[in-house]
Amino acid sequence: MALIVHKYGGTSMGSTERIRNVALRVAKWHRAGHQMVVVPSAMSGETNRLLGLAKELAPTKADTAYDRELDMLAATGEQASSALLAIALQAQGIEAVSYAGWQVPIKTNSAHTKARIESIDDARVRADLDAGRVVIVTGFQGIDPLGNITTLGRGGSDTSAVAVAAALKAAECLIYTDVDGVYTTDPRVVPEARRLLRVSFEEMLEMASMGSKVLQIRSVEFAGKYRVPLRVLSSFTPWDIDLDTEAASGTLITFEEDEDMEQAVVSGIAFNRDEAKIAVLGVPDTPGMAYQILGPVAEANIEVDVIIQNVSKDGKTDFSFTVHRNDYQKALDLLNALVLPILGAAEVVGDTRICKVSIVGIGMRSHVGVASRMFKCLSVEGINIQMISTSEIKTSVVIDEKYMELAVRALHREFDLDQAADSISN
Ligand code: ADP
Ligand code: ASP
Ligand code: MG
Repeated sequence: MALIVHKYGGTSMGSTERIRNVALRVAKWHRAGHQMVVVPSAMSGETNRLLGLAKELAPTKADTAYDRELDMLAATGEQASSALLAIALQAQGIEAVSYAGWQVPIKTNSAHTKARIESIDDARVRADLDAGRVVIVTGFQGIDPLGNITTLGRGGSDTSAVAVAAALKAAECLIYTDVDGVYTTDPRVVPEARRLLRVSFEEMLEMASMGSKVLQIRSVEFAGKYRVPLRVLSSFTPWDIDLDTEAASGTLITFEEDEDMEQAVVSGIAFNRDEAKIAVLGVPDTPGMAYQILGPVAEANIEVDVIIQNVSKDGKTDFSFTVHRNDYQKALDLLNALVLPILGAAEVVGDTRICKVSIVGIGMRSHVGVASRMFKCLSVEGINIQMISTSEIKTSVVIDEKYMELAVRALHREFDLDQAADSISN
């Protein structure tokens, strides 16, 4: 008997029929003797629907007061799906109880719409588990020190599930979703993508931070920090398949490098169209310039990603960086208002039609020439690289977004990720 956390994504919770299926699956695990905590997302489309209503009333995002209400609103999606799952379990004759984040409580900081979990009180959940109940905890939400409801950013239910698993020291956290594991790249874009049996935690972290939406990045960070055994698997298998078969399916996130396995140079390809590029042109090439530009941006809580400073000419240089598209206008306004007047003649230009494509693999540590192979592959396709950034186990390029799918497909082929479909699936 073990304490297990299941997380079900929006598509898996998308209708009463699907919720009934989730209930049947959870009931199977419960009846097998496991203590079960379930973290559901809102029914698919619900979060978008709710946020869309807010946009109808106030199209431009204004301030913290507005973000507070967005959280209040969006959190209802998970409250509804959690209660429905509890009702579906009760209909199977299982004692089940659901809790909203604030009832647990899951405590977060006050960064509305992108809050971070700070602590989770496990007492209430444990008491229910000890009484033989299935406990359902809403994904995506928590409560801040002032008692306001917060949400954890899009895709945040993954993080709720892993954090709850860490707090309860669960034996495993199973992320049930609409694909049957982590693939070499998004199978919606490259049908030849293959499921990985295992993926190292470090690679998963890079894949998630480079845009693979299969797991929210913070959920991977939590799993690493607290060593939560984590598996991604399908919620669309028949609910009554053998439990041990189900428990071994999907993709396992591993924490040790598997020495027996021949390490591929590149394990996966991630892409992200949520970024925009900003360039500050003709700035004086003097000490403190980067700070003068990026300081105000950081103070406005805007995350900056790829940064490039050109070689200077006649004492002037160009400084470019990328931000999330949601923060693009805010960053431009800020630079125009606060930074340009200080930097003199500089000009700010931007481009939202870019994307970032990244190759990820711990095999890159021990192989040289991987990045140049990537650049060659893109040049053969006639794709211009606008920016490059690297880390030990990834290389990212910023390119025109219209070439994104072409680039991902070409790189998938270049690094032999299309091959040997049978050799790695169960
Ligand atoms: P959920 O609603 O279950 O949280 P998400 O839509 O957030 O599901 O994540 C699952 C989706 O992630 C898949 O349908 C797939 O299109 C996408 N995805 C992106 N990259 C990958 C990848 N490398 N492997 C698997 N799925 C991926
Ligand atoms: N419902 C939230 C979203 O759509 C959280 C999640 O699904 O993980 O982003
Ligand atoms: Mg998700």
